[in-house]
Amino acid sequence: MLKDTLLYMARQERIRRFVSHNGFARRAARRFVAGETLDEAMAVATSLNRQHISVSLDHLGENVTDAAEARAAAQDYITILDRITDAGADANISVKLTALGLDLSADLCRENLTRLMRRAAELAIFVRVDMEGSAYTQATIDMVLALRRDFDNIGTVVQSMLYRTPADVARLIECRTRVRLVKGAYLEPVSVAYPKKADVDAHYIECMHALLECGVYPAIATHDERIIAEARRFAAHKEIAAARFEFQMLYGIRRDLQERLARDGYNVRVYVPYGTQWYPYLTRRLAERPANLMFIAGNVFRG
Ligand SMILES: Cc1cc2nc3c(=O)[nH]c(=O)nc-3n(C[C@H](O)[C@H](O)[C@H](O)COP(=O)(O)OP(=O)(O)OC[C@H]3O[C@@H](n4cnc5c(N)ncnc54)[C@H](O)[C@@H]3O)c2cc1C
Repeated sequence: MLKDTLLYMARQERIRRFVSHNGFARRAARRFVAGETLDEAMAVATSLNRQHISVSLDHLGENVTDAAEARAAAQDYITILDRITDAGADANISVKLTALGLDLSADLCRENLTRLMRRAAELAIFVRVDMEGSAYTQATIDMVLALRRDFDNIGTVVQSMLYRTPADVARLIECRTRVRLVKGAYLEPVSVAYPKKADVDAHYIECMHALLECGVYPAIATHDERIIAEARRFAAHKEIAAARFEFQMLYGIRRDLQERLARDGYNVRVYVPYGTQWYPYLTRRLAERPANLMFIAGNVFRG
């Protein structure tokens, strides 16, 4: 119930405006967001790299309603790609199609994505297209597979909560496209998604096995220790080398586990979001673990 309420709040513009301007909430958001500027995000990336942890940078923003804003978002990502190269950082980028104008027009979005893919290809940097709510799943997969014909440095994300995902996994494997597997962070109706966590977890493991065996450098993105243990067991059993996949986690969550996996010789990548548009991202993190709400509330009240 609380989870659904938080996910509903993530989409409310009036609440976003109110919370985004609250100084205490802004400071509390820093637990999950690397900062508001690229300099701050690069400092976090450098420090993670020092611990042999790779990074994916996300310039926060989604559902833009203006074509100029969507073009500016693509240009911002090009700046990030250049900064990654200049700094010699072990980092790639994660982008959301609605930040590049998907709500306005698929053509505009494709134009923006193609522009940044060209620069990423020149610099040999991988681009991950994040997965948003189920209304965008088909469009996202179609767009990624269309660009995959010209670029081998593009990949996307699938969510084990959706009924359709095993079929998407099969298609992405067939097209030799890199996949990040997640459980899913959006509020979805029972017509498209498993309502029970046990089913979401069971389907995660099913898709993970397929990706580990047949996928192209899959990303096992979860903080779920039981699933991580199963990935390690399965890879060892099938003699899949640790270099053939990576674990991914979110900035600010289970730092201990990130470091432990890196020490054990696994590839680990941390998703590092930054920017001023942190409100929907933060509410999704609160919905995943409502205890986080107490942490934020504690900060606000202490303030
Ligand atoms: C690198 C990465 C990229 C992602 N990209 C996408 C995407 O493109 N689209 C999408 O829909 N979703 C994305 N997600 C979010 C994902 O769908 C889940 O909502 C999120 O990872 C929580 O699920 P879990 O797998 O960690 O398992 P859960 O069963 O939710 O959690 C397992 C354990 O992890 C810890 N944990 C989980 N979440 C939190 C939290 N917020 N705060 C503190 N502890 C926590 C807790 O200890 C919990 O018991 C991404 C996740 C990661 C790690």
